[in-house]
Amino acid sequence: MPPEVVHQPPAATRPLVDEFRLGLDAPICLTWELTYACNLSCSHCLSSSGRRDPRELSTEECFAVVDELQRLQVFYVNLGGGEPMLRPDFFPIVEYAIDHQVGVKFSTNGTFLDRDAARRLAAMDYLDVQISLDGATAAVNDAVRGAGAHRASLQAMEHLADAGFGAFKVSVVVTRENVDELDDLRALAESFGAQLRVTRLRPSGRGADTWDRLRPTQAQQRQLYDWLLGRDDVLTGDSFFHLSAFGEALPGLNLCGAGRVVCLIDPVGDVYACPFVIHDEFLAGNVRDPGGFTDVWRSSELFASLREPGSEGACTSCGSYDACQGGCMASKFFVGLDLDDPDPECVLGNAEELLDRVGAGVGAHGAPVPRPTADHSRPGVAVPSPVTLRPTRRTRP
Ligand code: SF4
Ligand code: SF4
Repeated sequence: MPPEVVHQPPAATRPLVDEFRLGLDAPICLTWELTYACNLSCSHCLSSSGRRDPRELSTEECFAVVDELQRLQVFYVNLGGGEPMLRPDFFPIVEYAIDHQVGVKFSTNGTFLDRDAARRLAAMDYLDVQISLDGATAAVNDAVRGAGAHRASLQAMEHLADAGFGAFKVSVVVTRENVDELDDLRALAESFGAQLRVTRLRPSGRGADTWDRLRPTQAQQRQLYDWLLGRDDVLTGDSFFHLSAFGEALPGLNLCGAGRVVCLIDPVGDVYACPFVIHDEFLAGNVRDPGGFTDVWRSSELFASLREPGSEGACTSCGSYDACQGGCMASKFFVGLDLDDPDPECVLGNAEELLDRVGAGVGAHGAPVPRPTADHSRPGVAVPSPVTLRPTRRTRP
């Protein structure tokens, strides 16, 4: 049963954003990580990926999840990982989803996206591809993603462009090191006929250990806000609504959608409130449970509680609350703040004193700083070359 909602005006009279706060019958933004296996070892990986988990969903179980999503009329899924193309059944799963009216957007580091794969992808409808790239230059990108990763991304982009894929996405996690490269990154994406998508660095997974070093400074947050204002051609999802406290609201979803419109299915079928909170505290159930994903989405106690009106907590007296909503739950959680504290990157600086109190695994209020539930990292992994990497047209002198 869906969570009971009382004392609410009829749906027809409620604004859309209120509908989102109360939760929908099905998620509008469902991330599904197909595997924890990855050939890279990015220092900010939100799922601490590296090794495959032996409990990962089988091909048949993946098809069954797609069947459910079709019944729920989920419009599309974001497939990711790990590196989803490492699954031998990657294409069968994508094709099964598309054949069952579930559109696919998938994220890849590009290493396995060779010429044949690009042609196969270009021939499909209801499919979008996001190539991860965290720097316009190899020096900036590879410092985070590993040696050779920049070249692999650009080569995949070139294959997609050559195959006539159309406007795929170039997905950038904004860091202290690449915020000055945003114009270059946009130009680079456009040179392939692609669109730039920027997302926020969260202290999730391995990002917990690099967040403090890589997160944009306060001055860079302002720089990013000014850069994003009015740039409707750059996609942001729900990433930067905490920046709206600077003034005019940025385009995109201006609230935390965790468990309301957003959730994550991880490679072993666990369902979390959002892709950035892979932790037992935000685990709602598993697609292998009786009732499957549908039951988890509609009946889990966790999701019901996230759909209730939240406390404004320490943000109560802030005049920017309507714009910023107190920020990102995941970011607060993994740096050791309470969920009703200000966002750790509060643009008014209201979390600074709390962050100063965090230290040596102890959070701002004395409780241990949560660690990700599982770590799939492989020690000492460099970027292998499953495809022959060669200089791309756009990197040749
Ligand atoms: S917890 Fe953060 S990343 Fe997750 S849905 Fe909320 S705002 Fe977005
Ligand atoms: S105090 Fe809270 S609501 Fe105000 S800007 Fe900071 S995080 Fe946002």
